Amino acid sequence: MATVTAPSLTVKDFKSEVHNDWCPGCGDFGIVTALQMALAKLQLAPHQVVVVSGIGCSGKTPHYMHTYGFHTLHGRVMPSVTGLKLANHKLTVIGVGGDGDAYGIGAGHFVNGGRRNLDITYLVFNNDVYALTKGQASPTIKKGMKTKSMSEASIMEALNPVALGLACGYTFVARGYALDVKHLAELIAQGIRHRGSALIDIFQTCPTYNDLHTKTWYEGKDKSQSRLLKLEETDYDPVVHHPSDSGEVSRKKAQALLKSEEDSERLPIGVFFKMEVPTYEEYLRQKGVLSEEPQATLDTIFRRDIQPLLDALA
Ligand code: SF4
Ligand code: MG
Repeated sequence: MATVTAPSLTVKDFKSEVHNDWCPGCGDFGIVTALQMALAKLQLAPHQVVVVSGIGCSGKTPHYMHTYGFHTLHGRVMPSVTGLKLANHKLTVIGVGGDGDAYGIGAGHFVNGGRRNLDITYLVFNNDVYALTKGQASPTIKKGMKTKSMSEASIMEALNPVALGLACGYTFVARGYALDVKHLAELIAQGIRHRGSALIDIFQTCPTYNDLHTKTWYEGKDKSQSRLLKLEETDYDPVVHHPSDSGEVSRKKAQALLKSEEDSERLPIGVFFKMEVPTYEEYLRQKGVLSEEPQATLDTIFRRDIQPLLDALA
C-alpha cells in the first residue's frame, strides 16, 4: 500500500484573505512574503505561530498572516511577546514593528526584551520615518538627512539598530533588505530557529515618504552598483563558538559593532552576531517557576468555569 504523507505547507497556507492597503511598491510586501516563506520552509503549522505588532504601517502585518495575531499598543510589542511566550512557550512568537515603534516609542521595552533572551524573533521594518503618521523623522534617520516628508533636515544623530541590539543582549542580531525576499526569508528562518532573542533589522523602502532610501539607492542601476553586501559572501564569522569564553563573546560583539559602524560605500546585510546560551524560559524552568507544560494549557483557575464564583459575587 502506498504511504500517505501529510501535505506540506506552502507560502499560500500563511496568507490571509484580508485586503492589503499598503501603498503600491511598499517594502512591507517583501517582508510579509519573506516571513510566510520562512514559516513554510520551517513547516510550522499556522496554529503554532503568533505574530504580534505595534502601531505603524507594519502594525497591519498580523492581519495579512494566516496565523494567530495580536495588534498591540504603540511600542508595546515586547511586553506582549513576553506575556505570550511565558503563557505558552510552545508557540513560535514573532514580534513585528517599525523603527519608530521599536527604537523610539518602545525603546525601553526593546532594551529589556533583549536582556531577557526569551526564545522569540523580532522583525523591525526600518524605513527611517514614522510612515503611518505621514513621514516624520524616526530614530534611524541620519543627521542632516531630509526626506520629502520632513520640513527640515534631522538635527540628531541616528541610532544604530545593530549596535543597540548587541548592547541590549539579543543573542542573534541580523540585518536584511525588504526587496531581497529570498535572502530575507533565509534570515528570518535562521532567527526563528535560533534558541533565544533574535533581532532582525530590515532596510525597508517607503516610496510614499522616504525618497532618499529608494530601491535604486540600495540596489543601484545594476548589480555592480549595489550598496548591499552580503556578510555570508565574505569571510565574516558571526558565531560565538564557545559562549562560556567571555573573551570570545567580547571579541565577537566588538567585531559585530565595528562591522555595523563601518563607514564604507557598502551596507552589510546578513547575520552580525549569534550566540546560543540558556533562554529566559529555561532559567524559569530550572527555578521551578515555569512547568514543562505551558501555563496556558494547565488546569488553572483561568481554565475553570468561573460562573459559580461570579454568582457568589453577584
Ligand atoms: Fe509602506 Fe510607506 Fe505606504 Fe506605509 S506609507 S504603506 S511604509 S509605502
Ligand atoms: Mg518607520
